[in-house]
Amino acid sequence: MLNNQFPGSVAKLPRVDLALLPTPLHKLSRFTEALGGPTIYIKRDDLTGLAGGGNKTRKLEFIVADALAQNADCLITAGGIQSNHCRQTAAAAARYCLDCHVVFGANPPSVVEGNYFIDQLLGAKFYWTEKRRRNEKMEEVAAALHEQGKRPYVIPVGGSNALGAIGYATTMFEIKDQLRAANINIDYLIFATSSGGTQAGLTVGGHLSKLGSKTIGVSIDQVPDDQSDFKYQAFVLGIANDAAQLLGMDYMFTHNDININYDYLGQGYGVVGDIEREAVRLLARTEGILVGPVYTGRALGALIDLIRKDIFRKEENVLFLHTGDDIALHAYRKDFEV
Ligand SMILES: *Cc1c(COP(=O)(O)O)cnc(C)c1O
Repeated sequence: MLNNQFPGSVAKLPRVDLALLPTPLHKLSRFTEALGGPTIYIKRDDLTGLAGGGNKTRKLEFIVADALAQNADCLITAGGIQSNHCRQTAAAAARYCLDCHVVFGANPPSVVEGNYFIDQLLGAKFYWTEKRRRNEKMEEVAAALHEQGKRPYVIPVGGSNALGAIGYATTMFEIKDQLRAANINIDYLIFATSSGGTQAGLTVGGHLSKLGSKTIGVSIDQVPDDQSDFKYQAFVLGIANDAAQLLGMDYMFTHNDININYDYLGQGYGVVGDIEREAVRLLARTEGILVGPVYTGRALGALIDLIRKDIFRKEENVLFLHTGDDIALHAYRKDFEV
């Protein structure tokens, strides 16, 4: 379902059909009760419907359409072994009859499980390199495929560029429609942020739709800009402004528009701690809904902690965006033995 209130500039962009939209938005009554804080709602982008679902599917609707418009016959992307983005890209490629080449910033694992197992079912081809060489390796794979007469299309890590972000700008309109129909106001929108496209898109969509809720990305693995050569907040801002330009918006976002909470990095990316374990179990045992440990478990754990720190008033409403990673749970089962 395409939102008819969305600026006409979106309708002009090529888009393929990958996601089952709108994804459900509903209240988490027992989870809310267990925490005794604000009322918590959930937006189910784990149910986008493509090989396990997740947030990359919305981005890929615009990115794959661009690849097809450029007459590509194969996709190249990169991520970690348990990348939800690589899984959804492999599924999108299958759907549109494209080959999919996945560069992993790791050594081949001894066990085939979780997302990596699904990637194999989907027919993706794999390449291995050091994490810091992922982008370089994608270019090498592209050059080699060109040599063979192929027409490769490189998708950045996480599908995080202006086109990908537009998938999340449209989501804000979808959310606004659902909230209006249910007569609910949302004070905060909370989600996991990591490669930036989701947050950039939500920022653009929040401005265009005038939804008016505060958007907070919980950083999964990125540190504040003054602590790294890679300036994450500036990167997200850059994507937001690129997307705004692509949409013909006469508006420049600033750092104040990009709210990131860096307090839940724990022991690092993919290291499952008490916060993640509690969040996964609490949502499972109160609502029967699964979150994965790396992204949504961490972001939901952050929300639980913020509620306990009395950041929200009881009469406020919080919307948690489930970005879809429960397929990875099996690969982390040993982390739940403690
Ligand atoms: C990729 C991913 C995110 C982060 O989205 P970005 O657009 O990369 O910031 C959050 N949750 C899950 C499950 C993801 O796979």
